[in-house]
Amino acid sequence: MEILRQRILNEGRCLDGGILKVDSFVNHQLDPELMMKIGEEFGQRFAGLNINKIITVEASGIAPALMTGLMMKLPVIFAKKKHPSSMTSGFYQTEVKSFTKQQFYPLIISKEYLKFGENILFIDDFLAHGNAAKGIINLCAQAGASIAGLGFMIEKRFQQGGIWLRDKGYHVESLAIIDSLNDNEITFH
Ligand code: 5GP
Repeated sequence: MEILRQRILNEGRCLDGGILKVDSFVNHQLDPELMMKIGEEFGQRFAGLNINKIITVEASGIAPALMTGLMMKLPVIFAKKKHPSSMTSGFYQTEVKSFTKQQFYPLIISKEYLKFGENILFIDDFLAHGNAAKGIINLCAQAGASIAGLGFMIEKRFQQGGIWLRDKGYHVESLAIIDSLNDNEITFH
């Protein structure tokens, strides 16, 4: 997606550890118009797959997931990283290693919103090692829901998540794929 690649080139900053900082339009400040276009693009790429719901992970996945839900006219669930006291019914839970914080956190979805037989689209901001994606795949398996596809705004191909997911046969769509990040030089696939 050219418009996204241009934003990454203009505003992205390479940090140590293979981290791309895109706080000015993805991870802190948000650009609603860009997110709308991202929602349209995911809507086109995942059209016709009989998807019932979109799932993402709080917080940075919510904007692209919500816009995709708007375009596809589907509800959006965000997996929570803490169990809220208001979640009184049962819930599915797994543990995921955080890419940016290097620690484990829980991923929780209420049984009210993820049901047996549902066909799920996972949307997130980044694909790195695929731990967040694997966590959502795990929660869907616990519920007996299936994964129709996984969409990422930015995939870093030099980390292994994309290889793992595609090897397992998942339908993966990434709108900007980065081959390398070096001293503020960003190379796209
Ligand atoms: P994974 O679980 O695939 O290893 O990492 C994906 C999650 O880590 C995303 O939800 C995203 O929030 C975060 N993440 C991974 N790589 C980056 C990055 O380069 N920059 C930022 N800002 N977040 C990242």
